[in-house]
Amino acid sequence: MIEGAVWLKAGREKKIRHLYPWVQRGEIARVDGSPTDGGLVRLFAHDGVLLGIAIYNSRSRFPARVLTLQDEAIDEAFFAQRLEYALHLRQRFVTDTNAYRLVFSEADGLPGLIVDRYANYLVVQVRTLGMERLKPLWLPALIETLAPEGILERSEMESRREEGLSPFTGALYGQVPEQIPIIESGLQFLVPTADGLKTGFYLDQRENRRQLARLVQPGERVLDMFCYTGAFALYAARAGASVKGVDILPEAIALARQHAEMNQLQAEWEVANAFEWLPVAAERGEGYDWIILDPPAIAKRREERESLRWALWKLVYHALPLLNPNGRMLVCSCAYQMDLSLMVDTVRLAAHDRRRALYLEDVSFQSPDHPFLMQFPESLYLKCLWLRAG
Ligand code: SAH
Repeated sequence: MIEGAVWLKAGREKKIRHLYPWVQRGEIARVDGSPTDGGLVRLFAHDGVLLGIAIYNSRSRFPARVLTLQDEAIDEAFFAQRLEYALHLRQRFVTDTNAYRLVFSEADGLPGLIVDRYANYLVVQVRTLGMERLKPLWLPALIETLAPEGILERSEMESRREEGLSPFTGALYGQVPEQIPIIESGLQFLVPTADGLKTGFYLDQRENRRQLARLVQPGERVLDMFCYTGAFALYAARAGASVKGVDILPEAIALARQHAEMNQLQAEWEVANAFEWLPVAAERGEGYDWIILDPPAIAKRREERESLRWALWKLVYHALPLLNPNGRMLVCSCAYQMDLSLMVDTVRLAAHDRRRALYLEDVSFQSPDHPFLMQFPESLYLKCLWLRAG
């Protein structure tokens, strides 16, 4: 099962012992035993001390990803144990929903594997060749631990190419319906499995939706920009607000409409491009007490940080005139490359250019079923600023 050994350069073992799971190419002194890509290797410090077992891929920017810091068998029982622990954490920390992220890759000790649970179904994403090759071990463990009715794989991300994997979508077990009904905080949603974004639903925003529902007042006007299937808008509508959701995807708006009906809530919906819609709505003189800006991650690479910054500036700059005096704004970024301080700076600049006082009242992150392991900064990606305009 173990195909070889990777020896690190002197000093590089520290970060591994401190729980950072990725080894860069330049940190490797030598590779013994010609392991195949996606195979398992033992990881050694330069002085010969065993650090753990890693997944190897010579093609990746990170040729070794740590699976365990113990010298243990990597078998079905290993995966069952990790899955049971992940499940135990969710059962303790995730409440009032039958949909949550069960496995968040490295942050749950399973590098390259995402598992989202939607009622009795699972939707998985496999991001690395190593996890793909380990499928015969983790898939039975997943079936055993969760006893789902069906498991769908939705592995369409661009980053698979670098791993030597092509996109794949298909059932891994049982049958999965095209739409899975879920209930989050008492609201009903349908999760589109075949063509939905991500694995179908933005589970990572759950706690932020709940926070919005706690803060919004009956009668307030709420704009949910980038609303996807309407989740934020519907939480606000249930709290008594008058809501409008805007998204560029007609399929998402169609589903948002259906969600409003299913939950017997009133809402207005519009298919539009945010960057065009915001300035036009300002010209029409529209005003809102709340604006939610939850744009997609338009950039994945470090070099694209400037375009992320520019897009965020533009959104806030065009949203501010739509915000009533003392209006609140929730600005989110799910782009890892846009860190919190860059976000704060960018939003400040937009407020400055509008000469509008803007108060930062709170900061929040992805929901706890997407754990942020502090030693692994890459596991923090969603940041939200809770703002109030003067
Ligand atoms: N807030 C949503 C998730 C938003 S994901 C939720 O909680 O469910 C980002 C959304 O932005 C996607 O639905 C995507 O269709 C939409 N989108 C992408 N580019 C857009 C644009 N230029 N204008 C409006 N919507 C856009």
